Amino acid sequence: MEYSSTPPEGERYVVNVERRGNTKYTYYNDGVIKITRFKKKKIYWGRIAVAVLLLFLLILGIVQIGKSISKSKKSNVTSKANTFIFDSEESASAETADKPAETPTAKAPSADDSSSKAEAAEPQTRELIVCIDPGHGDIDLGNADGDGNFEKDQVLEVALMVRDRLTEKGVTVVMTRESDTQISRTDRCTLANTSGADLCVSIHRGGGDSVYFYGTSGVIAWVNDHRPVYDTTLAQNILNALDEAGVSQDHGVYYGYDGAADSNYEINMSTVMPSCQIELGSMLCADDNQLFISNKEAYADAIANAVIKTGVDLGVIAEDGTRKLGEQLISEGKNSVTVNSQEQLQQQTREQQETQEQEQPQQTQEQTQQTQEQTTSY
Ligand SMILES: [Zn+2]
Repeated sequence: MEYSSTPPEGERYVVNVERRGNTKYTYYNDGVIKITRFKKKKIYWGRIAVAVLLLFLLILGIVQIGKSISKSKKSNVTSKANTFIFDSEESASAETADKPAETPTAKAPSADDSSSKAEAAEPQTRELIVCIDPGHGDIDLGNADGDGNFEKDQVLEVALMVRDRLTEKGVTVVMTRESDTQISRTDRCTLANTSGADLCVSIHRGGGDSVYFYGTSGVIAWVNDHRPVYDTTLAQNILNALDEAGVSQDHGVYYGYDGAADSNYEINMSTVMPSCQIELGSMLCADDNQLFISNKEAYADAIANAVIKTGVDLGVIAEDGTRKLGEQLISEGKNSVTVNSQEQLQQQTREQQETQEQEQPQQTQEQTQQTQEQTTSY
């Protein structure tokens, strides 16, 4: 910009003004240059962008922390939601109108509303102790399907799933084994008895060399030959639930031992609480093997839910999971010592009548043990 007018002599006047960027250069007639830097109200878009980014990251961080906190409770919450659905379905089909028309379909595990509803309906703790016994283990392979699969592994897999499902529902679970280890039948029973277990379920798959006398496929539940009511209830509840999960055939509750109705599987003989031995299909049957593979999770659900139902049915716990029974549930009509001595007595009497000879109870016991050992392929 130029000033053309002539100012008074001796007075400084501006000859030129230039602006370069933020700087204003004022040229005076006497050679002085005045430099003025504008304090330009610069908008620091870069800094704003960084600030916004930081804010975003901060919010993201808070959200992540929130998520990780809720994650620590996530397994509980989701399992509650799941089990609530399952229980509702079960109670809807099995019982008449205990739970009204509450539809658990719109379940969002993260939503506070639904989870609190689930907590209200689903007990967090069930004061029930259950012994789960996966048959066989280690060098005791159990049955085999000829395809490289062994009973000891398959029953352990299901048993661990049953354990997890029961634990999620607040049941105390005692496992006779949790890995591919060997444990004697006697030790299994001792563990069940001393742990205070109210119920004991031994999980097996059939199909040994001593072929199912009742057929070639399907599920079966073995119960003590004295036909104790509690044990029968446990076995029947499990079979009913397995039926819903899908089995090739349900042979129902059988008493005694495969091929020896007056003998017992040790788990049903030497435990004091209601017990049963479940055979989850035959490993010699392709259909059963296929069903087992596709349904094993459903089988685990079925067994876990049936066990809890039995705890309620037999008055050990209330529907809300609180304990009703003061002590360990004892099977009426089944006691290892009693059963043994009665059997011994009966056999002794028979032998006395037949041979007119005095038979020692110890010898009889040895014979009983031999019988057990000869037929241990289940
Ligand atoms: Zn077995």
